[in-house]
Amino acid sequence: EFDIRAQGASEDQDFEQQLRPLTFDDFNGQQKILENLQIFVQAAKMRGDALDHALLHGPPGLGKTTLANIIANELNVGFKITSGPVLDKPGDLAGILTSLEPHDVLFIDEIHRLNPIVEEYLYSAMEDFRIDIVIDKGPSARTVQLNLEPFTMVAATTRSGLLTSPLRARFGINLHLEYYDTEIIKKIIHRSANILNIPIHDNAAGEIASRSRGTPRIANALLRRVRDFAQVKGNGEVDKNIAMYSLEALNIDKYGLDEMDNRILTTIIDKFQGGPVGLNTIGTAIGEDAGTVEEVYEPFLIKEGFMKRTPRGREATPLAYKHLGKIDPASQGS
Ligand code: ADP
Repeated sequence: EFDIRAQGASEDQDFEQQLRPLTFDDFNGQQKILENLQIFVQAAKMRGDALDHALLHGPPGLGKTTLANIIANELNVGFKITSGPVLDKPGDLAGILTSLEPHDVLFIDEIHRLNPIVEEYLYSAMEDFRIDIVIDKGPSARTVQLNLEPFTMVAATTRSGLLTSPLRARFGINLHLEYYDTEIIKKIIHRSANILNIPIHDNAAGEIASRSRGTPRIANALLRRVRDFAQVKGNGEVDKNIAMYSLEALNIDKYGLDEMDNRILTTIIDKFQGGPVGLNTIGTAIGEDAGTVEEVYEPFLIKEGFMKRTPRGREATPLAYKHLGKIDPASQGS
């Protein structure tokens, strides 16, 4: 079973690295966010200050890591990267914080998975650029205060709902990334094809874009797979036929929906007569946390018109019925 989401996420970091935009100009889409960030970065540079701490939230693969990296590049400062689960002990955090140069960007991915004890230490680091650490044990234990260089923390999360309010309050900049429109994804595919030297027709790029779930990471992963087909089955050029052929062979959903998307819709239709049904009930039925359904899966389903949020819960739309080949009771007898 070809899982495009897992593919893009884990396979070949080099490939992602190669395709990562490095400047604001090079980054497509998320226009509002970019406009704001450009102002904040410019203002911080004019003042000679570190940029305020920034929280980037939104579903996976939309460019949070990329943006953090761009922020550091545009500020002309160093970039260090870590993640919530890696910062297991306060010492790990102290180690990385004391290694920062003035105004550096520290990127913490998956901030919602930070150990609560480590999180406590982060508060003073973010607010006052100092950190109190306890050294030694027993009667000789004492607290040492370490002063830090002013730095910018950029944190990313797919689950902003899980952040505690004290942590959330310490970010001066709070930005939400949205799924990309197909047109923008198409531009990103052209850009990637250009970097990778893949000849691609415009309608082929459009075909791949429309099945990329509004997600650059998926678009890039699909492009790479389609290139394989073009090389083996064609002459290396990606035209619409090759694109269609490959996407069929890879079993990629016509709308870019993945297995979990389809499971959510099928569940609402088959188990709950199309809804309305509460988020928690959906979560329980598919064995996923309700918050993950809300923050990671449903935004795309709602954006693309497969699901509706109503005061009484979630509903499958006629498009969902049609897509899954099911009969919509609402359309009967009309
Ligand atoms: P996230 O951190 O949100 O999971 P990433 O920043 O790792 O996502 O982005 C995943 C991949 O998608 C990267 O390799 C990057 O090349 C590409 N990408 C993301 N956003 C854009 C964009 N706006 N324009 C071009 N490529 C992008």
